Amino acid sequence: MSEEPVLPRIRPEIAALPAYRQGRQASPDAFKLSSNENPFEPLPGVLEAVVAAGAFNRYPDATAARLRERLAARYGVSPDEVHVGAGSVSVLAQLLLATSGPGDEVVYAWRSFEAYPSLVAVAGAKSVQVPLTADSRHDLPAMAAAVTERTRLVIVCSPNNPTGPTVGYDEFAAFVDAVPRDVLVVLDEAYAEFVTDLDSVEGSRVRAVLNRPNVVVLRTFSKAYGLAGLRIGYAIGHTGVLDAARSTAIPLSVTAAGEAAAIASLDAESELLHRVKVIAERRDRLVHRLREAGWDVPDAQGNFVWLAAGDRTVEVAAAFEEAGLIVRPFPGDGIRISIGEEESLDRVVEVAAATAVR
Ligand SMILES: *Cc1c(COP(=O)(O)O)cnc(C)c1O
Repeated sequence: MSEEPVLPRIRPEIAALPAYRQGRQASPDAFKLSSNENPFEPLPGVLEAVVAAGAFNRYPDATAARLRERLAARYGVSPDEVHVGAGSVSVLAQLLLATSGPGDEVVYAWRSFEAYPSLVAVAGAKSVQVPLTADSRHDLPAMAAAVTERTRLVIVCSPNNPTGPTVGYDEFAAFVDAVPRDVLVVLDEAYAEFVTDLDSVEGSRVRAVLNRPNVVVLRTFSKAYGLAGLRIGYAIGHTGVLDAARSTAIPLSVTAAGEAAAIASLDAESELLHRVKVIAERRDRLVHRLREAGWDVPDAQGNFVWLAAGDRTVEVAAAFEEAGLIVRPFPGDGIRISIGEEESLDRVVEVAAATAVR
């Protein structure tokens, strides 16, 4: 009998994390509606820009200066108030490392983006999760009340992944007022482009109006822009805060191809807006039909919808899978379904109707 090998010591909080295992790849005739990706091909000009970026034998520009200048002009800020990372998740990780260590607390809503708990744990800090309201929204007064002298960072996710509603502009402004000025508030707007509720918080407006150095806005090219595979996202914020994030970054992780693709995508704005409109319209139709089918679907402002299946989550997700629909179950809680191809909608509604409790 061979003995278990002795493994190197692992930090206990890391050993306690669930090991990352990617979900099953979709079979060719299945619809992959599990990762909030964009069902469209890259925007016009993107593939050409990636090929033209060429020079894969060379390291990229470590600061993504061209893209930062583009984004700075777009948002009316200086290039140093923009920080580009290999996906906005890596920018969030940097902000956590820069602000929050052992003994510190990070407040966020729950359920929210599944990456938050492990990113906080990796930084060595403690997660303080504030339950969503009954209609799956952030409970901002409760989140403000959860801030202690140990709190270093608060994440607000709008629209909230996976449940869908946005945070309102006024409630966000009141929340920022209630939070101490030395606590960083990260507004994670990965799905901002899909928002159609105009009372929602909007990062660049909130920054311009409130003018608070402790508010940082995260955006990404992974969702609306369809560049999930090229890993590129960014933060807009105070230079001092972003400098701290830059100091924690793994150098050179933003590729020249990603930067070129992002710039080309910004050049294709009108086509982008058209696609976003198509997806938002598809989303609204799907929400309507799911509600008709008997599901109490919360307001959906991203490119996904939420079925609060509760204890039946695993069973309902299996019914979707059976029908060739790869969805994202959160056992005990609910199922997130991304807005994909038009042809997927009827199938989604069919399974939803068959599994609804009326
Ligand atoms: C998808 C997503 C991100 C961004 O992911 P990247 O691909 O790393 O840019 C960030 N926050 C939320 C809530 C998301 O759903």
